[in-house]
Amino acid sequence: MPSLTVGLPPPADRRAVFRQMNPLIQLIGFGLLAATGNIIGGFLITGSRATSQRLLRYLIALGAGFMLAAVFLEVIPEVALQWQGSLIIPMGLVLMGYLLIQFVEHTIAPHFHFGEETHSDEMMRRGVATTAVIALSVHTFFDGVAIASGLLTSFRLGLLLFIAILLHKIPEGFTVASIALASGRGNQAAMRATSLIAAATFAGIVLTFAVQPAVKLTLPFSAGVTLYVAASDLIPEVNRKGHKGADLGASLLVFAGAALFYLAHLMLHGALD
Ligand SMILES: [Zn+2]
Ligand SMILES: [Zn+2]
Repeated sequence: MPSLTVGLPPPADRRAVFRQMNPLIQLIGFGLLAATGNIIGGFLITGSRATSQRLLRYLIALGAGFMLAAVFLEVIPEVALQWQGSLIIPMGLVLMGYLLIQFVEHTIAPHFHFGEETHSDEMMRRGVATTAVIALSVHTFFDGVAIASGLLTSFRLGLLLFIAILLHKIPEGFTVASIALASGRGNQAAMRATSLIAAATFAGIVLTFAVQPAVKLTLPFSAGVTLYVAASDLIPEVNRKGHKGADLGASLLVFAGAALFYLAHLMLHGALD
């Protein structure tokens, strides 16, 4: 007599099935979702609907806290495990990843900051908007590298880095679209710029998959990039003072983001171990 318990396999088996899913399919899924975050951010600004600046700032704050905790509590311990002994090479890679973004976003590009671009005078200068968009696509390329490096290490690390990065993807799309608009270009150019940074995220994922044996190097390097984005792109935007002074709610959400990461970390360690 056939078993009556047809349908879903028991939970333990289901987890195993999930884990055995082709990593490329997981990567493509994460890549598409992250890229969609950029596009949604772009639509928010070109769609003429007034987006709450405060809401975006809250999302930036939450993302910053989550990313910081992900780097320090998940990625660096994993890197230390992989490298055992001398950490000078992997920590050097973290530093290089950090410095690369300082170089492209604030050395080559004459004007770039996260959040809505409101300095039209600056942006009208020839080439300023273009270099800002190119700088941001280098950064989003490494967002993709970080997600893929995490996923190639373990499903848990990949998922946590994916959530960390996804949280800043909408503000990121918003940022790039507002750069295009502030430089006097129209909505179409804004969506093109948004698509470019979304495509760069996806390219980072695919390229990392193509060079997977190098994951021991790409993981610490992309962690340096994530650290830069959290601490030096997002936090200054949280702290930027408006007419009414600093936003206490936003600042508190940085801590909430870190706590949220820890919660997600605990849940995933329980569910996926
Ligand atoms: Zn500006
Ligand atoms: Zn990013």
